Amino acid sequence: TLKIGVLALQGAVAEHIRSLEQAGAEGVIVKRAQQLDEIDGLVIPGGESTTIGKLMRQYGFIDRIQAFSEAGKPIFGTCAGLIVLAKRIEGQEEPHLGLMDMTVTRNAFGRQRESFETDLPIKGIDEPVRAVFIRAPLIREIGADVEVLSVYNEEMVTAREGHLLVSSFHPELTDDYRLHEYFADMVRQSKTGEPKG
Ligand code: GLN
Repeated sequence: TLKIGVLALQGAVAEHIRSLEQAGAEGVIVKRAQQLDEIDGLVIPGGESTTIGKLMRQYGFIDRIQAFSEAGKPIFGTCAGLIVLAKRIEGQEEPHLGLMDMTVTRNAFGRQRESFETDLPIKGIDEPVRAVFIRAPLIREIGADVEVLSVYNEEMVTAREGHLLVSSFHPELTDDYRLHEYFADMVRQSKTGEPKG
């Protein structure tokens, strides 16, 4: 079976584990950097990106996750996880992992729309996905190798760069687990050496 870890420093961990298991993978709660050696893919959950970033530095995750990515192993960042993966964060000097070629803006929806739900069409998934946005970030600019998988009000909210997948919203807070299935497929392909789709 596919072992997919969920970084468990802060944020929505249990919900991701449940969604991964519904998508047919084994969900692993990752609390120590050494556990990265035992998993085929990694989810970085929503929560608070500055807190997650700080704890990642404190517990030695930065270099290890960068090496994990370097080895071509898939990573899925949701909400705060998207921010943590970005190469550029608007208004901030330094990124956290700095892996995905995009500029992101935190809390981009403003106070009126702090949290909301919508049915979101996503490229590669047949019917719209139920998407929960909570103080969500937006993707402002992308590099040439980044593919946009969905937009909401003309803003980019789901994207992929090779083995990296990100969503502005929380796919783990509904029982619609198709985006986890999509990620599990990426992990399966990277493991069996099939060409990336
Ligand atoms: N606003 C949070 C941040 O900037 C992200 C919110 C979330 O993950 N739901 O880190």
